[in-house]
Amino acid sequence: MAQIYEIRASPGKGEGVFATKFIPRSTLIMSDNSIFPTSVQIESNPIKLYVAVLALSPPVRAQYLDLAHTTNVAQLHVFRQLAMACNTGQHAISDSLLDEAGKASAIFEANAFCVGESNDGDSNLACIALQATRMNHSCLPNAHHEWNAEACKLDVYARSDIQAGEEITISYIDPLQSRERRVGALQTGYDFQCDCVACDLGTIFGRQSLSRRAQMQACREMITANPRDGHLDAVDFDPMEVCFTALCTLMEDEGLTGPWQVEMHAEMSERWAARAQYPAAIARREKAIEASVLCSGEDGRRTKGQRQLLEQLKALRDDALLRRGGDG
Ligand SMILES: [Zn+2]
Repeated sequence: MAQIYEIRASPGKGEGVFATKFIPRSTLIMSDNSIFPTSVQIESNPIKLYVAVLALSPPVRAQYLDLAHTTNVAQLHVFRQLAMACNTGQHAISDSLLDEAGKASAIFEANAFCVGESNDGDSNLACIALQATRMNHSCLPNAHHEWNAEACKLDVYARSDIQAGEEITISYIDPLQSRERRVGALQTGYDFQCDCVACDLGTIFGRQSLSRRAQMQACREMITANPRDGHLDAVDFDPMEVCFTALCTLMEDEGLTGPWQVEMHAEMSERWAARAQYPAAIARREKAIEASVLCSGEDGRRTKGQRQLLEQLKALRDDALLRRGGDG
């Protein structure tokens, strides 16, 4: 694949990734290798992480240790305690090694991409991809990433059309949150203040975004706080559909379509499926596929995953129809 992006200085943000030519939406921008052979657990022991860093080839290790990071003092304290606990007389760890291990841990915190959950669902999995990690954040990003577990790669897709010379951005945090929460999450996790179009209250869009995202957050909280209601099993009405519809409209007005929209449709589809309301579940899954094709293309992993789930729903619907036919 010819490279359609370059890494260069981004004013005020260190380095950034920029489009070298026009990139239509749903284009696969990069498929970046994870430097660790398997994804690592975020909450994993920092010493284990450092062992993994030491196992990297020298040039890759040098690139890793060169990545931007902020020193999280509290975390480093915990790390030092952990390291000290392992520091027996026989295998003493030198101060310089401890410092580098602490740095490795801080780099991981600042640069790792969360790529899913461990098999037991207890911890988050993360990867480090050296090119993708140069992408800066926007609360209204023009790109998004997907984890390709089999290939151990991070695929980055254009969420919207990207002009030549435009910076390619992703969202480091969940963008369906109020401005206040986003500011907090970016400050704590990444130690910077976002100045993207959605955060800039000096513009009309920024001020509209302020209220839209607060409403998005409220809609989503209402949906997650209202699990499937058993009383509704037999009816083809779900009060949460109203929230979903409002949320979708808000996302479209905000220009925040893409993977988040796919997730929302998918969640609603699951709610219907849990009540054996298959036609409604299928309709929502089809919406999820439509949204996925627009941001990840026909061949994207997200789209393929949604199509598989659609097939499963259709099989369930056919089974249910057969059973009903058998009863009558
Ligand atoms: Zn922002």
